[in-house]
Amino acid sequence: MAFQDLALRVHDVRDRIVAARQRGGHEQTVRLIAVTKTHGADAVEAAAACGIADVGENKVQEALDKMLATQADVRWHLIGHLQRNKAKSAPQFALVHSLDSARLADALQAAAALAERKLDVLIQVNVAGESQKSGIAPAEVDALASHVAGLSALRVCGVMCLAPFTDDERTQRTAFAGARLSREQVRAAGHADALELSMGMSNDYEVAVEEGATLVRLGTVLFGARN
Ligand SMILES: *Cc1c(COP(=O)(O)O)cnc(C)c1O
Repeated sequence: MAFQDLALRVHDVRDRIVAARQRGGHEQTVRLIAVTKTHGADAVEAAAACGIADVGENKVQEALDKMLATQADVRWHLIGHLQRNKAKSAPQFALVHSLDSARLADALQAAAALAERKLDVLIQVNVAGESQKSGIAPAEVDALASHVAGLSALRVCGVMCLAPFTDDERTQRTAFAGARLSREQVRAAGHADALELSMGMSNDYEVAVEEGATLVRLGTVLFGARN
């Protein structure tokens, strides 16, 4: 059966998160998001059976299909880049991690207003300035956060980042600390309750938690390599 040892992996990951949180001293609450992209709805169900309440997908259509294919009681996170023409689907997600422009914010505002609900979002910051990654530059955080403060249907809950893909812990740590600073800028720009820090993937989540991550997004370490 697929995902046979998932319960053990979840247990191990949770232990490591507790230890990393202890080492870091930020005293935050950490939520584990199981990234189920490329896997079927059975992965969502397996995760839910292991007590995981949050799943992450990076593509809108794949996520919508999976939502229809399972009754699992989980919160769905959109963790990948969101195109404006897909903004109308955003209210299907509990949290959109990838707000990266004022134009997308305006489209999300319209979609949320139409759905008559508040939409929770994170501002994605490209902390290391990597050209191939989406997200705004740290210097643009204040302007975007201020813009969104005027959009009544959006609630900015914090910041999301991807650290450079490297095994160098110093580089990872610098990126995560940068995201923490960006979160403070977001809070100062009118989102006092924006406490979430979505950072940390399979290769760097322990460092991310040490640096204050509140949401870690884990795929490979839970479900094995994607093909
Ligand atoms: C795929 C993905 C993850 C999970 O990556 P793993 O290395 O498999 O843990 C996390 N965040 C984003 C944005 C992703 O696209």
